[in-house]
Amino acid sequence: METKAAGKSTNPNRSTDVRERGMAVINDVIDHCEDSYLAAKDYHIKIMKEFSDKGLIVLVCQHDCVLWFINMGPNGEKRYFMLAMMQQLLRELPESFTIGFFYDVICTLHREMERWQLLPHCLPHLKFATPVFHLYGHQWLCQLLYHPYKNPEFGHTDGEGCEREWNLLNSVIPTCRISGFYCRLFVINTKQAYIDGQNLCKLASCQKWRFDDAVAKLDEAEGALDRLGIPIDKIQTAWAEQLSTQQAEPPHVLNLFLQINLLTSGNLVPEKDAGMKTIESILNLLWTRTTL
Ligand SMILES: [Zn+2]
Repeated sequence: METKAAGKSTNPNRSTDVRERGMAVINDVIDHCEDSYLAAKDYHIKIMKEFSDKGLIVLVCQHDCVLWFINMGPNGEKRYFMLAMMQQLLRELPESFTIGFFYDVICTLHREMERWQLLPHCLPHLKFATPVFHLYGHQWLCQLLYHPYKNPEFGHTDGEGCEREWNLLNSVIPTCRISGFYCRLFVINTKQAYIDGQNLCKLASCQKWRFDDAVAKLDEAEGALDRLGIPIDKIQTAWAEQLSTQQAEPPHVLNLFLQINLLTSGNLVPEKDAGMKTIESILNLLWTRTTL
């Protein structure tokens, strides 16, 4: 909720049906994603108020190995934690690297970075995606653009490594809730060292399983297309058409209103008592007609 308030207060007059520089998604769609996540978090914000440390943020690599933890401190989750992690990660890597970065609400983070040109030197090295499970909380256009399975660069990565990490740390949560700061640090460090050792032993077999699973799914998909007699080119063309249709600029409310008003009364000035519901219903009809 604090993040949302900060974002809207900085630019309160921006239009919701505008696509900002560098973005493929219009503001209205991203605002809906943001609201759905904030609404889901309200309950947790209320019950977490009594704790001085609200929790941890973790960055894991492609192989689910922990790179860094960040203690949220008393203020809870903030977007600048993600920016700090991005910056730190890119400092450790050669400039030629491109990073696939997953975050639950990546559309809003991407928009903030493009809008305010945050870490502009990092932007060319980043590809954004949302973990596959968290995508269900996003609008349809976000699901199309930020789904890792729908972007060839991400392969069969699901981006849920953090959830698997939380599952492994789950057993220390009751202890940490009633521990002091340094005791909590010790418990988490010790547990994580144990998890790292276990993960290292399983790393090769786990990667082999993931690779075999990806190959099996590719074979299954290609076999299904062969049986149906559908060429892959046709699927790719249909996919590109869907993307371009979904990203098309929605008709501007005021312009359409003026056109309708001109047709019905010959008057270019919109009447004050025209209801937004009527306009929206007309827009919906026109939108449906153009997309079918
Ligand atoms: Zn979204």
